[in-house]
Amino acid sequence: MRVVPISLPTPFYIGPVNVYLIAEDPLTIIDTGPKTKEAIEALRAGLRKEGFLVSDLRRIILTHAHEDHCGLARSLRDEAKNAEVFVHNWETGHRHRRLEYEEHLNLLVRAGVPGDEIERMRSLYDRMRKYADSFGDDEFTALWDEAELEFESGSLRILHTPGHTPGSCSFLREADRTIIAGDCVLKRITPNPVLSPDPLDPSRRFPSLAEYMVSLSRLRAFAPTLVYGGHGEPIRDYEELFHRYFRAFQERQSQVVGLVPKNGVTAWDVALKMFPKADDVHRFLSVSEAVAHLDMAYSEGKISYEPNGSTEVYQQIA
Ligand SMILES: [Zn+2]
Ligand SMILES: [Zn+2]
Repeated sequence: MRVVPISLPTPFYIGPVNVYLIAEDPLTIIDTGPKTKEAIEALRAGLRKEGFLVSDLRRIILTHAHEDHCGLARSLRDEAKNAEVFVHNWETGHRHRRLEYEEHLNLLVRAGVPGDEIERMRSLYDRMRKYADSFGDDEFTALWDEAELEFESGSLRILHTPGHTPGSCSFLREADRTIIAGDCVLKRITPNPVLSPDPLDPSRRFPSLAEYMVSLSRLRAFAPTLVYGGHGEPIRDYEELFHRYFRAFQERQSQVVGLVPKNGVTAWDVALKMFPKADDVHRFLSVSEAVAHLDMAYSEGKISYEPNGSTEVYQQIA
């Protein structure tokens, strides 16, 4: 089975995104790049180099529904006529119009994010919207954990690896223990457990960091020889990266616990202390990071928690 990485430009801070062509029948692309002229041109060039056209695509598979990964899904599907789009059922937000704003709003209020900052984040969502089309519930096929995607010369096993987003999936080629992991595993940066509503109960928060750690351990159990990430170079030393991630998580965890005083703080306060200069999308990501670690610290009994009106206040345990 030939896996061809194709790097596409994005207008985002993260830089280029990797999409993966499975160059055999049925012709399949894993992730699509954002909906920009530059990305579609680069994708056409990448396919052409392998002797294919967009119209040859039969399957469009999404590791998750962030704009840099899913943006072109509808355009590609429409051009390829009978291509099928696959995404995990828990990947709700961006499928219908970016984030379900009301649910996110509620999570941001609970995290203590001030009103003017929430407004700023809302305009950020609006700006992001143009980089991806929305999908109706009947327009895609669900990816199921442990199901196999068959190809001419073998198969890819679907692994539901939540954490970065609730519906993130990875794809395992057992024959050579290769994994295509989207943003679950990135070589140079520790991926963010992004603040999300729980897909099973949107009034709750998805326990993203705890889920993420389980996913990373699950991938480790396959002893992968090669992991293709959503950004940056492939990873040949997953074991080392795994330990690096866990050290980084532990350090962040003690930093966060150390920032929780007796008289209480919100996740917003903690985010400001951790990343005082964070701006734009990084403001949102820093709140995500703070919430993820506070949730984890609370669930491990390292801090206590008290609701205060609509916000949540974390306190040092006396
Ligand atoms: Zn992502
Ligand atoms: Zn990404």
